[in-house]
Amino acid sequence: MLKSIGLLVIGALSLLAQDSGVSAERIREHTRFLASDLLEGRGPGQRGGELAAEYIATQLALAGAKPAGENGTYYQKVPLVGIETQPDATLGGAVGGKGVDFRWGDDFVGVSQTQRPDTRFEGEAVFVGHGITAPEFKWDDFKGVDVTGKVLVLFTNEPASTDPKFFDGRALTYYGRWVYKYEEALRRGAKGCIIIHTTETASYGWDVVRNSWGREAPFVKLEPGAKALALQGWITREAGERFLALAGKNLDELLKASDRADFKPIPLGIQVRGHLPSKIRELETRNVAAVIPGSDPKLKDEYIIYSAHWDHLGIGTPVGGDAIYNGAIDNATGCAILLELARVWGSLGQKPKRSVLFLSVTAEEGGLRGSEYYAAHPLAPLAKTAVNLNYDALFPWGRAANVVITGAERTNIYPLALQIAKRLDLGIAVDAQPEAGHYFRSDHFMFAHAGVPAFSIGQATEFLGKPAGYGEQVYQEYNGKHYHQPSDEFRAEWDFTALRQAAEYGLLLGKDIANQDKLPDWRPGDAFHR
Ligand SMILES: [Zn+2]
Repeated sequence: MLKSIGLLVIGALSLLAQDSGVSAERIREHTRFLASDLLEGRGPGQRGGELAAEYIATQLALAGAKPAGENGTYYQKVPLVGIETQPDATLGGAVGGKGVDFRWGDDFVGVSQTQRPDTRFEGEAVFVGHGITAPEFKWDDFKGVDVTGKVLVLFTNEPASTDPKFFDGRALTYYGRWVYKYEEALRRGAKGCIIIHTTETASYGWDVVRNSWGREAPFVKLEPGAKALALQGWITREAGERFLALAGKNLDELLKASDRADFKPIPLGIQVRGHLPSKIRELETRNVAAVIPGSDPKLKDEYIIYSAHWDHLGIGTPVGGDAIYNGAIDNATGCAILLELARVWGSLGQKPKRSVLFLSVTAEEGGLRGSEYYAAHPLAPLAKTAVNLNYDALFPWGRAANVVITGAERTNIYPLALQIAKRLDLGIAVDAQPEAGHYFRSDHFMFAHAGVPAFSIGQATEFLGKPAGYGEQVYQEYNGKHYHQPSDEFRAEWDFTALRQAAEYGLLLGKDIANQDKLPDWRPGDAFHR
């Protein structure tokens, strides 16, 4: 009797496992191919990247997904411009006869959004605190002051908080990100925007700023007539001190002033002058898009989007004699899951009600450019996009005990997301560093930014049958030794069970969202509410 109950239970379990049809083996094989040396690190605008895009389109076609790109193809062209500010760039400020001049790299870095080979600008400096307008937190650093044509000077980050109702407590909100500062400056018609770096406000040292801004970076090509900042830049704390001294101001006092709700913009009376000679290179790359139509005559006009970026760093500086940045984990794994999801969805006898778009975006590594372009030129209307579920860098280290879905709690899908985790016997991993703002650093974010409920289904932080702390240990090892290195390579001993689980999780969640009555939404008051 006992024995037969046991068999029944095992029978039921294996039925559940077979149910989804997701194959760890197929995820492994896609990963192996996409990460092979033949694909040369999948650089956008490079041969290996083109091959990856072709492979993904072909696999989507074989899965039965229809072309969803431009002109009946599987592709959406993404025009990018690579910009490298030249080291003879200059930046300085003057009051009357007194002035300061900054040296490229040592004192300042930055880029002109004009995408022109030579940009000169001049404007009056206004200090604007953190440069934030956040009505939901009753915060406005601008207080109605017109900053059109001015050069904004500010600190990154946001007012300090431990109150969850005020700038989400300890967590970094989007208002605290440097990207937001430049966006807000542009919205307000400023000429330029300069962030004064401090290690505390940035949460990293000047060397990080210098390294990431001192080389070519890709941008989505400006539309004709679009507004652009003449400079989006950073200066060091020491340069900031010299700069503010011209106006008789002190950096520490301004830092303090920036944390007060009654802060008002401070015209500094400093004339800023800059010259940004830049190397400009146009490059064309592609997002891959395919659709499996829904079964409901009305709801099929609405879409679930699964996404995963196909690009990685291409061929670069050799490390230990290896110049191919294979990007096996980052992000051949996510693409492999995307392809397997398409195959399983394609094989469903009864298709879910809403349609599903499989989107493999380009140029994530260059700053989420493929997804930025998609959000500005959506292939399915954003207002009819139910959700974006993204996969970026998953760890093939055994059977997952949990799943990371940071950001899901901002949406009304969350109860469903919890329920499905329970069904699959997965815990929900909590974000151990909310102040790091991980939510803003992968492709789903560009959907959120455009108002679409979106999050990534991330790598497990705990694995079953492994000693306590194993997840953290292997994560640290990956991050320290292999992240964005040529050694992020496919390994035969990898166990893809966790990736199968992450795919199953996304499949069940996507199916349920595709079948539910209403489109998902953000929680009321969320910053990304559409
Ligand atoms: Zn990466």
